[in-house]
Amino acid sequence: MNWRLAAFVLAVIAVAVIVLLRPADDAAQPTGEPLLPDMWTSAPFQLGLAEVDGRTVLRFTTEMNNKGAGDLLLRGDPKGEISQWVAHSESGHSTTTLDVDTMWGGDTHNHWHIKDVARYWVAHTDGTPVGDEFDNKVGFCIFDSVDFRSGLPGAPTSVRHRIAGCGTRLTPEIAMGLSVGWGDQYRFDLAGQFIDIEDLEPGSYLLMAEVDPARRLQELDTTNNTAATPFTLQVQNGVRMVSTGG
Ligand SMILES: [Zn+2]
Repeated sequence: MNWRLAAFVLAVIAVAVIVLLRPADDAAQPTGEPLLPDMWTSAPFQLGLAEVDGRTVLRFTTEMNNKGAGDLLLRGDPKGEISQWVAHSESGHSTTTLDVDTMWGGDTHNHWHIKDVARYWVAHTDGTPVGDEFDNKVGFCIFDSVDFRSGLPGAPTSVRHRIAGCGTRLTPEIAMGLSVGWGDQYRFDLAGQFIDIEDLEPGSYLLMAEVDPARRLQELDTTNNTAATPFTLQVQNGVRMVSTGG
């Protein structure tokens, strides 16, 4: 065999192998615009007092919502790295590793939570926080629980992200998300859904809620992440009472 011909054949094979391998890489490249979520929070509602471990706590319900161009989707190893997946308008998706921590929600939840996706605190009526002790940071399993019927493009009419995405203890990968036009409600009776106000003086305050306080998520608009509910704490005949509105 002609060595020059053999070298040529080998070169052709090498190029063919490279060409054959390349489409896999190209397919991973997203095309079109990134369809980012836009997270916003409801003002806290259903405020009420309860007692936990002998201390007075303020319970409340909140809703984290998405009115963006695409779903919020967080995927990864709950004991390793979590990435945000963003679908693109034509094909594919991009991923960004997030600086977030996960925690196992053993206290009645029995699934994985991502920490600090939202934060709640008590502020004076001028907006200044009352103090660190009235700040509650908790973990979240995010999934579609409330359809706010946005009519937004891409908003599904049925649940797309389910609670099962938050996995179980030994799950190698979690995939939690929030569809466009959907919200996730955190009811006042959820474990951990309260702020200790045992040492709060009677008076008028704001109960603040903020989604993604550390701005770790990729989203369209971060100016709409905070909401507040005014409330009054009173003591009558030695009994504490909380009221809203009026
Ligand atoms: Zn949970």
